[in-house]
Amino acid sequence: MHFASEPYERHVHENGQQRDVRRVTLIPGDGVGPEVVRSARRIIEAAGVPIEWEEAEAGAEVFRRGDTSGVPRETQESIERTRVVLKGPLETPVGYGEKSANVTLRKLFETYANVRPCRELPGVPTRYAGEGIDLVVVRENMEDLYAGIEHLQTPDVAQCLKIITRRGSEKVIRYAFELARREGRRRVTAATKANIMKLTEGLFKRVHEELAAEYREVEADHLIIDNAAHQLVKDPSQFDIIVTTNLNGDIISDLASGLVGGLGFASSGNYGDDVAIFEAVHGSAPKYASKDVINPTALILSSVLMLRHIGEFEAADRIEDAVLVTLEEGQAVTQDLARLSGDVEAATSTTGYTEAVISNLGRHPAGGSVRSSAGIPEAVVPRRTMTSAGSAREASGDRKLVGADVFLETDVAVDELGPELERLSGDSLRVAMISSRGTRVYPPSGLRAEDIGWYQCRFVAPGTNGDGGSAVSDREVLELLGRVSERHRVTQVEMLQSFNGEPGYTRAQGE
Ligand code: NAP
Repeated sequence: MHFASEPYERHVHENGQQRDVRRVTLIPGDGVGPEVVRSARRIIEAAGVPIEWEEAEAGAEVFRRGDTSGVPRETQESIERTRVVLKGPLETPVGYGEKSANVTLRKLFETYANVRPCRELPGVPTRYAGEGIDLVVVRENMEDLYAGIEHLQTPDVAQCLKIITRRGSEKVIRYAFELARREGRRRVTAATKANIMKLTEGLFKRVHEELAAEYREVEADHLIIDNAAHQLVKDPSQFDIIVTTNLNGDIISDLASGLVGGLGFASSGNYGDDVAIFEAVHGSAPKYASKDVINPTALILSSVLMLRHIGEFEAADRIEDAVLVTLEEGQAVTQDLARLSGDVEAATSTTGYTEAVISNLGRHPAGGSVRSSAGIPEAVVPRRTMTSAGSAREASGDRKLVGADVFLETDVAVDELGPELERLSGDSLRVAMISSRGTRVYPPSGLRAEDIGWYQCRFVAPGTNGDGGSAVSDREVLELLGRVSERHRVTQVEMLQSFNGEPGYTRAQGE
C-alpha cells in the first residue's frame, strides 16, 4: 500500500506566517454518527487545533449503492493520504453482504491494536463511583478466531481456526508496554486462557513474558482471562493496562466500559503501523438518529485519543478537562445520564452539551485533571521492531514432520475403526490414538465421549511417543491419506510437526 510521505499541508496565513495543518479523514457514518462527529469536530475547532478535515463516506448508503465493501475507493485514498481517521458508527444494512464496513476498515489498514481506556468519570453514577477506576484494555485486533477462517467439517460439525502468531502478539504487546511508558502506567497484565490453549494463548503469554524483559520499569503479570473478568468486577481499580487476544479482549473491554458508565462514554482507538482509526464503541443507535439527544462524550473522548496520536497534547488535555468539568458540575446532562440520575426532565440536547463543553475549554475539574501522555506522539513510537531473539523453536532449526491428524466422518464404530486404521497405516506410521472432540476414545481411555461420527485420528511415525522424535515424509502422509480416504470421508488433515524435539501439537484428553 502506498502512503503519502507527510499527511500535513502547509498553510500560509495573510500575515505571512506558515503553519502545518494536519489532514484527518472524517467519516460521519450512520444513524447518530453525523451528530456525534459534528459535536467532536466543533469542540476540536473551538480548541484551535489546525486540522483540515477530508470528509469521506462509508457504511449503509455505500452498501445500498451496490459497493459490497461499504468503504469506497475515494475513502480508502483519503485514509492513505491522511493516515488518521475520526469516524462515526457504521451500519451493515440487512441483506447487503455479510462483511461489516468497520471490519473492512480495520483489515484494510491493519489496525492491530484496539485500545479502550476506561476511567471513572465525575458525575456519572456507577456502582464503582469513588473507586478511581483508570485502566486501559489493549485488544489484539487482527488474529484469533476473528481471522474468520471457518469450515463445516460435516453438515453438523463446524470449526473456526484460532490463529495466534508471534508477530501479531508482539506488535500488540509492545504497543501495550509503550503505552505504559508514555502514560507513566505501572503495570501491563496479560490476560489469556493459556492454561487450556497452551499453544495459541500460550504463545501470547510467552511473548508477553519475553517483552517484559525489555520494559523493566513496567511491572508485568499474567491472569487467566476468566479470573481477570472476575477481578474486574470485584475490584477494577487494581488494574492498569490489560493486554489480551482478540476474543478475550472483545468481551473484557465491553465489561470494562460497563464499569464506568457504558456506551455513551466508551471511547476507542484502533492503531496500526501506518493508520489509526478513532471511534466510539457504540453503534448507530438508529432510534435516536437526527433527534439531537444522543450523548456525544464517547466520540469526543475518542477524538482526544486522536489528538494525542498526532501530537496535539495541549488541546487533548484541554478538551478532556472541559468534558470532565461539564460532567462534574452537571451543567449539561444528556438523556442517558439524566435517566441514570432519575431526572429525565433535566436532559440537555446533544448540541447543548457540546456548547457546554466548548464553554468549559480552559477550565480544570475540581476532582483532578486528565492523565496526560509523556509528550511522544503515538504516531512516532516505533512499532515495527521485532524481538531479535525470535523464538527458541525458530532458532533451533530442528523441525521434523512426525505424523498427521486425519479428521474423518464415518459410520464405523470406533472399536472397529481403530484396528482398521492400524491396518491402513502401513510401515512408516502407526495409530497413536483416535479422539472424539478432543477426548481419546481409542485405545479406550475410560473417559466417556458421545459418538458423533467424526473423529480425529492421530498417525505418528513409529518411535514417536509424544516427544516428536522420529520423522516421516510428506509422501508417506499423502499415501496414507489415499488409503484412508478410499474407506472414509476425510474432512481435514493437520500435519504434526516437532520443533527442537518438542511436539508442535497438543495431546488429546486421556492420551
Ligand atoms: P448501539 O447503536 O450501540 O445502540 C444500543 C443502545 O445503546 C442504544 O439504543 C442506547 O440505549 C445505547 N447507546 C448507544 N450509543 C449511545 C450514546 N452515544 N449515548 C447514549 N446511549 C447510547 O447498538 P445496536 O443497536 O446493537 O447497533 C445499531 C447498529 O450499529 C447496527 O447496525 C450495528 O451493526 C452498528 N454498530 C456499529 C459499530 C461501529 O461502527 N463501530 C459498533 C456497534 C454497532 P437505550 O436504548 O437504552 O437508550
